[in-house]
Amino acid sequence: MGFVEEQLPVRYLGIPLIGTRMLVRDCNKLVEQVKARVQNWKHRALSFAGRLQLINSVLQSLQVYWCSVLLLPKTTIKDIGKIFKGFLWSGGDLRKGSAKFAWKTMCRPKEEGGLGIRSLQTWNEALLSRQIWRLFTTKDSLWTWGWDGRFPSLQLQPLPLLQTNKDDGIYWQDLNGNQAEFTPTQVWKDIRLVSPGVSWYKVVWFKHNIPSHAFILWLATHDRLMTHERMLIWHNSTIMQCMLCKMVPDSTPHLLFECQYPREVWTIVCTMCNFQTSDINLHHIIANQIPRLQSNHIQIDIERLALAATVYFIWRERNSRHHNGSTIPHAKLAMEVIKTLEARLCGIPLKWSAPMEDLCKRWKIPRPSNWPPPDNINLDT
Ligand SMILES: [Zn+2]
Repeated sequence: MGFVEEQLPVRYLGIPLIGTRMLVRDCNKLVEQVKARVQNWKHRALSFAGRLQLINSVLQSLQVYWCSVLLLPKTTIKDIGKIFKGFLWSGGDLRKGSAKFAWKTMCRPKEEGGLGIRSLQTWNEALLSRQIWRLFTTKDSLWTWGWDGRFPSLQLQPLPLLQTNKDDGIYWQDLNGNQAEFTPTQVWKDIRLVSPGVSWYKVVWFKHNIPSHAFILWLATHDRLMTHERMLIWHNSTIMQCMLCKMVPDSTPHLLFECQYPREVWTIVCTMCNFQTSDINLHHIIANQIPRLQSNHIQIDIERLALAATVYFIWRERNSRHHNGSTIPHAKLAMEVIKTLEARLCGIPLKWSAPMEDLCKRWKIPRPSNWPPPDNINLDT
């Protein structure tokens, strides 16, 4: 007859149809699917930022299908987290000492120092709350049929306080006690574990950032760049000297920017950007930027882009000296940073003004086509 023999449970759109709570074995197929997708990416040369983007895309598809209808077992969520961690930090299976952060830290919003990865467990609960919401709000739907009999306590819910001048309704109350529109996103906000905010997040994450640069700066801000000083936590050996000066132990504070080579690169970049700073400590530079972030001026964007690009290129140079022995003079590396900034600035929409005209000349970026022709501009008006 051409039928394919399958095993129970029956699946609909790939999801098992079962009448009881999901068990780990019911979700093995899901874990295998995630593993298979990650295997497909393993051989591609992807940056951290690229891997992060792919992880978010798989999480998105998991939320659309599995998490909206089934409560995933904690073991399954842990197994999936382990696959993602291995892919993000090692490009494949997780190696000892390669994970720079706990998964739950990475699942914090960027404002709270994380990477904004969606926590599968919290999102699963938030998405399923929609089903409970429907029980109360759409009592006639097929979905609610039989639930009242199965869970009599649902009928015993206290009735809301009646007001004669208003129609009865059911509303969601947020964490602050305010009435809010019911959405899974709102529920997620109200049930997730909130961590203290970090004041520096806008220095790292902003609209025009370059994702791979932002990611390395984020690691540096947390002091999690894998310098030799940090690797000694896992490997007991003699500390390696800085790859750039060979005089001082390899550590993040030295690399950014106490060492002479990075400092010279940073000075050239700052001069080009009109960035007035004499600091050679990454945390101090970031702390000094924070009060100025209220301004929307393009200069703030240039300074943030310059900091992230300099950190990124210095980190790349340090690694390339370590792994290949190849070196680039500091002036050439500074030019690479400046060229990258030029290219990025070309992609940012600029509104015409006299300072913007100067900015284009300074950075040698073409005048946007929607600007008035240079002959028509009267700078006195
Ligand atoms: Zn050095």
